[in-house]
Amino acid sequence: MLYLIYLLILLILVAIGLIVTNIFLKSKKNQEHSGNKQLGSKFLAGDTEQLSIIFSSIEEGLILIDNNKSIVLLNSAAALITGWGVEDAIGIDISTVVKVADNQGKPYINNNYPFNKVFSTGKYFKDNDLVLITRDNKLISIGLNISPLSDKDGNVTGAVALIRNMTEEKNQESRLADFISTASHEMRTPVAAIEGYLSLALNNKVATIDNKARDYLEKAEEATRHLGQLFQDLLTSAKAEDGRLVSHPEVVEMGDMLKKLTEDLKFSAEKHGLKTEFIVGTNPANKSDSHLGVKTINPLYYVYVDPDRLREVITNLYDNAVKYTPEGKITIGITGDSQVVQFYVKDTGSGIPAEDIPHLFQKFYRVDNSATRTVGGTGLGLYICKKIIELYNGRVWVESKEGKGSTFYINIPRLSTPRAKELLNNPEILPTNTNTIATT
Ligand code: ADP
Repeated sequence: MLYLIYLLILLILVAIGLIVTNIFLKSKKNQEHSGNKQLGSKFLAGDTEQLSIIFSSIEEGLILIDNNKSIVLLNSAAALITGWGVEDAIGIDISTVVKVADNQGKPYINNNYPFNKVFSTGKYFKDNDLVLITRDNKLISIGLNISPLSDKDGNVTGAVALIRNMTEEKNQESRLADFISTASHEMRTPVAAIEGYLSLALNNKVATIDNKARDYLEKAEEATRHLGQLFQDLLTSAKAEDGRLVSHPEVVEMGDMLKKLTEDLKFSAEKHGLKTEFIVGTNPANKSDSHLGVKTINPLYYVYVDPDRLREVITNLYDNAVKYTPEGKITIGITGDSQVVQFYVKDTGSGIPAEDIPHLFQKFYRVDNSATRTVGGTGLGLYICKKIIELYNGRVWVESKEGKGSTFYINIPRLSTPRAKELLNNPEILPTNTNTIATT
């Protein structure tokens, strides 16, 4: 709902932006189109004052730039957020006033600078997880939306930007994450104790119970296990959100690691009557290279990750494949090119409806169908997988067809074999400030 309102404000602002561009560019250019002329003249006939009142009363920061990326207009909210005076900023290049960095504080420059992106692609930009470096060098969390303004030939002639100070939202999120992580941490201890006592009660050597009591206790044990998993997932996701997820990256050869992991995992599939296979060198979506699956010399797929975290991700995808595949096969595979290592978990299960796919990696999202109603889950597993993969600058996504099965893919930047060997032989030169984040 908030986003709809936000979008509406943005549309109004874009419309206002177009009008204002007409006004400001009028002295430079002759208006070619009678429609624009009408709009321009309508507002020039005494409405500029009203416009300026509208701009200054908008709570979001609003900035209008021309085709040279110079600031044409900046409202008082934008001045407050950036630390620039309204008059000082007019005519100045946008990159001087709106210095943007990623959420690690690394400034965006050249092609990565959002305004440059909008000008080069002509596409709308939106990111609610940015950092602004203010005029007095303070870092504040912001949300930034930029809409390009184009002429009739589609050339970008300017842009309207909306800036929101997200500091309060971020603080609230962090307080909430703190609460969730403390609460789930505290609750895991009593849940573990209940699980322990239940398993003692169910142990024939320790306790004597009748069949009815056994049935109840087994159900209680199952529910307690689910509760324990929920607290564990809540704790992990809260840590992932505020950067406290422990990650000790090292050079890992994924082919070897995945092969061993598949050996460990296959028992849970076998219990459900499912087959498991491990394939090296084949992309399941690319039938043309399927002959690569019988390679005798496997390439070395080196990456720089925490193996425990990667194991967690693959195990999660594999457990899901088992949960949502009534019969058939689960395939774990690895392939790659010079830039990335790609691994995947493919199943022949229930598949995922197309409309659910865009939401699958969101927190607590579960597909509402018979497959999930009968299978327990927290809806946090894929969210956690995505957060972990992002730690290593990777990407996770799914391709799926209802009734046919799903394939979850992960891409991670690849280390060339010489580079991996160099790092393994000289641990002291291991990247300390690479894109991989090592949190403690
Ligand atoms: P859950 O604990 O519910 O399994 P996840 O975050 O791991 O939570 O998965 C989210 C939802 O995605 C699941 O509830 C299920 O609807 C769907 N899903 C995940 N993996 C698969 C799969 N291999 N096949 C079909 N549906 C899946």
